[in-house]
Amino acid sequence: MPPETASPATARSALPETGRPAAEVLAELARLREGDLPVRGGKVTAYVYDTGRDAVHDLAATAHRELLEVNCLDPTAFPSIVALERSVVAAVAERLGGGAATPGVFTSGGTESIMLAVKAARDARPVDGRPQLVLPATAHPAFRKAAHYLGVEAVTVPVDPDTYRADPDAVRAALTPRTVLVVCSAPSYPQGVMDPVAEIAAVAAEAGVLCHVDACVGGWVLPWLREARRDVPPFDLSVPGVTSLSCDLHKYGYAPKGASVVLFADEALRRRAYYASAEWPGYTVINATVQSSRSAGPLAAAWATLRALGADGYRELAATATAAADRLREGVAGIPGLRVLGDPAVPLVAVASDDPAVDVFVLADEARARGWFFQPQLSYQGIPPNLHFTLTGVTDVEALLEALAGAAEAAREAGPPDVPSDLVDALRALDLDGMTDADFAGLLQAVGVDLDGGGEPEMAFVNTVLDALPPEIREGLLIRFLSVLYSGAP
Ligand SMILES: *Cc1c(COP(=O)(O)O)cnc(C)c1O
Repeated sequence: MPPETASPATARSALPETGRPAAEVLAELARLREGDLPVRGGKVTAYVYDTGRDAVHDLAATAHRELLEVNCLDPTAFPSIVALERSVVAAVAERLGGGAATPGVFTSGGTESIMLAVKAARDARPVDGRPQLVLPATAHPAFRKAAHYLGVEAVTVPVDPDTYRADPDAVRAALTPRTVLVVCSAPSYPQGVMDPVAEIAAVAAEAGVLCHVDACVGGWVLPWLREARRDVPPFDLSVPGVTSLSCDLHKYGYAPKGASVVLFADEALRRRAYYASAEWPGYTVINATVQSSRSAGPLAAAWATLRALGADGYRELAATATAAADRLREGVAGIPGLRVLGDPAVPLVAVASDDPAVDVFVLADEARARGWFFQPQLSYQGIPPNLHFTLTGVTDVEALLEALAGAAEAAREAGPPDVPSDLVDALRALDLDGMTDADFAGLLQAVGVDLDGGGEPEMAFVNTVLDALPPEIREGLLIRFLSVLYSGAP
C-alpha cells in the first residue's frame, strides 16, 4: 500500500516511511532535549557528575564512539574488550583492597554489580528453603530488586535513628540458616554515612555468611580522601569478612553512564556470578553480566576517563567536591529551619527541615524555579523527608546556598501543600488492580498532576501525597505512574 493511501494508523506511525536527513533528525533530538535538566554546570545536584573539564568528557565520548559497535557478547571476537576490562577492574581493585589481581566484572551500573553479587552469594552456598539477604534500612533498593529477580528474600534491619548507620547487633539478630549475604554501605546514599563495615563483616564471617560492601557511590572518593588524611574507617575488600564490593565509575569516577565494577574475594565466587548456557542449537552463550549483547562503548569511555584523569585528577576532584560539601554543611547551619542529617563521609549532604512551616518538597519546587534541582527523599522508618545533594567541585556553593535560603524563605511563605486528607485515604484504599491506566491517568488529572509537563512541574503535591502513604502503596502508585507516563502517543 503506497503511503498516500495508508490507513490513519499507519500515517501516524512513529517510524517515518522514508529515512530522514541527519540534520533533521539531530534538530528533532535537540528539540526533545530542551526540557531536560542540564548535565553540566553543577546546578543539578543529583544524577550527573561533572568534572568541569570538558576535554575529559569529550575524550570519553570519542572513546565511547570508537567502541560503540563492538559487542561484548564474544570476548574472543573482540579481544580489546578483555584488555580494557582487565585494566579498569585492576585500577579499581588496586585502590579498593586485594590488589590489582583481585577478580571483578565490569558492569552497566550499581544495580547490575549488586545483582551479580547477590547471584554469586545465592549460588555459592545453597541453603534449605528460600535464601535470605540481610540489609540495613538505608541500603540501596538495588538489593531488593536483585532479591526480587533472583528469588531471594530481603530481610531489612533498622539503622541507628540518630546516626543512620547500620547496627551490627541488629544484623546479627537477623541471621538465620537461610542467610546467604549480609550487606553494608560505604557509604549509604540517603545520608552519605558509613556503615560500620568491619563490625558487620565480622558478624557475617563469624556466621560463615558472605558480606557485600556497597561502595557504589563512595568507592571512588574514599581512597582519595583517606590519602588526604580525612578520617576514613576501613571499608574495602581488605577488611576481613568482606567478600564482594561494588564501585560505580559512572558516579565519582566521572565516566559516562553504564560503568561500574564489582569485585570478588576470589575467582570461585566470581564464577558464581557468571552464566553459561549450551542448551540450544545457537552460538555459545557465556556471560559475565546480566546483559548478553552489549556495546563496549561504556567500557571504553570509563577506561579513557580513568586514564585521562589519573590518580592526581581524582585526588583533586575529591578534594574540591569535599570542600563544596563542607561549605554546604556550614552554610545550611545558618539557614533557619534547616539541618543536615547525620555525618556524611563523602560529598553527599541530606538537608531536612525542623520547622513545620518550611516544607522541603515546596522548597525543592522553589529551587527548581530558581534554576536548581534538589533531589527530594521521602520519609522512611522515622527518617524525615529531606533533600539530597550530590556535590562535585563544579557546583558554585555560594550560589547554591543563596538559592537554598531563598527557596526556604519562599517555602515558608507558601506553606506546606494543601493535600486533602480524604485524598490520601482514598489512595490508600484504591483498588489499583481494578483500574486501567486510562482510569489512573484520569485520576492524576483530577488531582491536578500534569503528565505532559509544560513548564516547571509542581512536585510538592505529589511528594507530599506519596510521603503520607506506606512504602507498598507508594510502590503501586509509582508503577502506575510510570506506565501512564510511557503510554500515550509520542
Ligand atoms: C547509585 C547507587 C546504587 C545503584 O546504582 P545504579 O548505577 O543507579 O544502578 C547502589 N548503591 C548505592 C549506594 C548507590 O549510590
